Amino acid sequence: MSSKVTSGDGGRAGIPIAAGGSVLRPLKAAEVVARDVVRTVRSHGLCTGDGLPSEAEMLKLYGVGRESLREGLRLLEVQGMISIRRGPGGGPLVGTVDSANLGRLQALYFHLAGASYDELFEAWIFAESTLARLAAANPDAAAREAAMTPYLSGDVDDVAHDDLDVYMSGHEGFHGALAALAGNRVIQVTFRAYGQLVAHHFATVGDVRTIHAALVDDHLRLAQAVLDGDESAAESLMESHLANVLNLHKEQLGDLLDGDVEWL
Ligand SMILES: [Zn+2]
Repeated sequence: MSSKVTSGDGGRAGIPIAAGGSVLRPLKAAEVVARDVVRTVRSHGLCTGDGLPSEAEMLKLYGVGRESLREGLRLLEVQGMISIRRGPGGGPLVGTVDSANLGRLQALYFHLAGASYDELFEAWIFAESTLARLAAANPDAAAREAAMTPYLSGDVDDVAHDDLDVYMSGHEGFHGALAALAGNRVIQVTFRAYGQLVAHHFATVGDVRTIHAALVDDHLRLAQAVLDGDESAAESLMESHLANVLNLHKEQLGDLLDGDVEWL
């Protein structure tokens, strides 16, 4: 029996999205290790850059074989939750909670499900404009001011974005600062994943720095709306900002937009 489905938009094929049969799937040994390592991180109050116990200690601590331990650590490493220093004196360190990694994982799901870029962009605009509204609604005016002031000057630092990585972290930094004001870590982490995924795709197909000046101006107006606590202005400015971003990228994106969301 063919497992192919047609989603209805131009005959795009994808794997059907399951209704939730894996909710109670038992964990594999490596996943149990990963969970236990994360519990250690939280129960010891460890932070980014802190060392985890040595391999020998963890083998004893978690009562598993070396293979399961390494596989479990790999699962966390792929998510950026830990980093592993190789070689003598090396070992696992606590990593970061980064929506970019969640975005990459989501892209795999979207790709296999046959999701279109239009669907991704719709989710992205919905998520970012919701974050902007929630940020403006944050009752802590001092926190809004502290987070948005760096983006009110509109200074364009030409040196800083010679390096694409520096430019990307700067641009994403604004959206991250705004998301942190939303006051809900679940919404912050999950909603930002769309933006990080879109940013990753844009950076892969073209040089996003060419549109820098237009975006800085958008950010300035957005920062002001959040600072003013103007929820509806923040929401609609974000919608038009992302529409600008999209228009400026459309030519570079070209044929990519006709296909499914890629898992890059
Ligand atoms: Zn932006």
